[in-house]
Formats: sequence, structure tokens, C-alpha cells
Amino acid sequence: MKKSIRDIEVNGKRVFVRVDYNVPMSEDLKIVDDTRIVSTLPTINYLIEHGAKVILCSHLGRPNGQVDNKLSLRPIMARLSKLLDKPISFAEDVLADSTVEMTENMNNGEILMLENIRFYSEEEANDEKFATSLSKLADIFVLEAFGTSHRKHASTYGIAKLLPSVAGFLVENELKMFDRVLNSPEHPVVAILGGAKIADKLPVIENLIDKVDTILIGGGMAYTFIKAIGGNVGNSILDNSKLDLANELLDKAKEKGVKILLPIDNVGAKAFSEDSETKLFNSGFFADDFQGMDIGPKTIKAFKKVIKKAKTIIWNGPVGVYEYEKFKRGTNKIAKYIGKSKAVSIIGGGDSVAAVQSLGISKKVTHISTGGGASLMLLQGKELPCIEALQDN
Ligand code: AMP
Repeated sequence: MKKSIRDIEVNGKRVFVRVDYNVPMSEDLKIVDDTRIVSTLPTINYLIEHGAKVILCSHLGRPNGQVDNKLSLRPIMARLSKLLDKPISFAEDVLADSTVEMTENMNNGEILMLENIRFYSEEEANDEKFATSLSKLADIFVLEAFGTSHRKHASTYGIAKLLPSVAGFLVENELKMFDRVLNSPEHPVVAILGGAKIADKLPVIENLIDKVDTILIGGGMAYTFIKAIGGNVGNSILDNSKLDLANELLDKAKEKGVKILLPIDNVGAKAFSEDSETKLFNSGFFADDFQGMDIGPKTIKAFKKVIKKAKTIIWNGPVGVYEYEKFKRGTNKIAKYIGKSKAVSIIGGGDSVAAVQSLGISKKVTHISTGGGASLMLLQGKELPCIEALQDN
């Protein structure tokens, strides 16, 4: 395990906390959802209470290395200040000498927020000189931005290599939860995988085959598997370059006694649109001019049975084109079954998380990951570079 803020002395130290305040904003620059800000409060409060000087750094939106006043962190500073009931100073230019001076003049328990770090093109380029400048602002680095921990940027990876670096509570909790479901889960373990990008999901299956009992496959990725075993998938989304690998994984699962359940039936549509004509098709028997848009009722029933018996559930990716009202039934049902289950459940990936949130059942899920790409990498069994850069405990 990696060290967290609990494992080091922070009293009197300047602590650079890389948070993820990339919150949705309205046209008139109002915060639409402050979950990401609220979720960092335990770390910030801990640091303040333990006498640290807290320097907060985040990105917001995609300014592409240019100053864009619409993407300033000032409104976020105002919200955080309200939430903490505490004044926060602001530094416009992270590279200015005056900013270093500001950090040196801070009292214990004070907070300074830096302007949007992606106003600098050096950030995403992981520029070494830029990371060195950032490191001059602090004595300790805290990674609290799980959602960007799979990318090597100057304020997430570069700086972590230069300062004593530890995890904040949010990152610590993410790592603990993934470790629990991947390395010491209560069986039976069920993984539900969906979505369209099969190239991302096949490595997940490869990694999970050694860890789970059953894998339920839905979404666009299912059609590559159905084609691989000789079925007709009509116009469904397909990756022909992955047919052999799909077959290899099915064989490997069989060898290891892991059940892989593919859809039995599917809601097909003539066109990829909400108002298209729809028809149910048994898997492998699509009409040539129809494409699979959602799992069908028999599949939902079969998946429900497995989910009901699970003690651990891992879910990544919608099992249909859930953005359209007509094709969200499968995904919503899966979300509801997980919500009803007493199993330890973990959900990652923007779409599955959105489905759970739109149904108002987030609280019934054990852990909703804050990182789509980062959680996918953990499910693939890969190491997250920014986590690797933190000190070992
Ligand atoms: P991913 O990023 O790979 O998890 O893919 C998520 C996307 O997969 C969502 O936007 C879904 O609309 C899409 N998706 C799910 N099922 C299907 C399907 N049967 N055909 C095409 N796209 C799908």
C-alpha cells in the first residue's frame, strides 16, 4: 500500500494537494454539481486541523494551455470557501515569484488556491521545468485527483517525483476499494461489462478471469463475441480485428471454470436513433439491416439471477445505448439489481455511474469510483503512474 496523509508529519509544512475540481459549470459560470469539491473536504479538513499550509491545485475544462477566464477556478474557490467557512487566498500565476512568496508567508491552517493548471501547456506535456517550479511551492505532495492519476501530467506525476508524495483520503479510499474487490473479494464475484470500446474491455476480461466467478457481457462489445462464435449480428457495432482474441478469452474462461454469459436476446433497431423501428432478436440471429442496441428481456432475467447470488459485484460500462430512452431498460435494470443487492459493489466508468446517479441509487452502491479511465486501468490490472510515484508504506 501507498502512504497517505495520515502516515507523515504535515504540521507547519506547505502541502501541495492536487485535487480534481473539474466540475460541471453552467454558461453563466455557476457550479452545477459540487460533488467533486465536497469529496475533498475530509482531506482538506484533516490537513488544516493538523497545522498544514494547504496549496490546492486543479484543472477545469480544456483550456489547451491558454488562459480562458471562463475556466477560472475563482468560482470554485468561492464555493470551497463557503463549504469550509474559511477564507482562501488565490494565486493567478503559478510561475510568479510572488506565488512562491505567498506560500512562504502562509500561516499553519491557511489555504491558497492556484489558478487552473491547464492554462499552462507545460502541464499536460509533463514539462520537467514546470514540475520543478510547482515543487518550489511546497514541501509535500498529496495526490487527491484519482480521476487523472492514469495520466502523466506535471501537477500529478512530475511533481510527485520531486517531493515526498502521499495519497489523500479520496485516493486512499479508491485504492482500498479496488484492492478489496480485485484481491480479496468475497465469492461469488460477478463482473458486468458493457460499453462500446471492446479494445479497452478485452484486457479487463483477461485480468478478471483469474479473479471472478462469472462475467456478464452486454453492450456493443457483446457483438464481437457473438460474431466470434459464429453468430449473425446484423449491423451491430463490431471489431473484426478482435474476433480471435474474443475466442481465446472464451476458451481461457472455460479452462479456468469462469462462466462468461453473453446476451441471449437483444433489442435491435434499424438505425442508431431514438425513433427507429425496433425488434427483438435472439443472439446470433439478427436481420441483416438491424443492429443491437440493448440486451433483451431474457438476458435481463438471466443476468438478474447471477447478480442476486453475487457477494461482490464489479460493473463497468452500460449494457445498451442508455443515452436513448428506448434503449436504457437493460442498463437501468442492472443498476437497480445492484442497488437491491447486499453484495459489495463497485462501479466505474462515466456511463454506468451516470445510470446509477440518474436512478437515485448511488447510496446503495458500496463504491462509485471517481475515475473512469483510472478505474478501467485498475480493472485491466495495470498500474497507475501517479499512484506508483507515491511513497510506499
Ligand atoms: P465505453 O466507453 O466503451 O464504456 O462505451 C460507452 C458507450 O457504449 C455508451 O455511450 C453507450 O451508448 C455505448 N453502447 C452501449 N451499448 C451499445 C450498443 N449495443 N451499440 C452501440 N453502442 C453501445
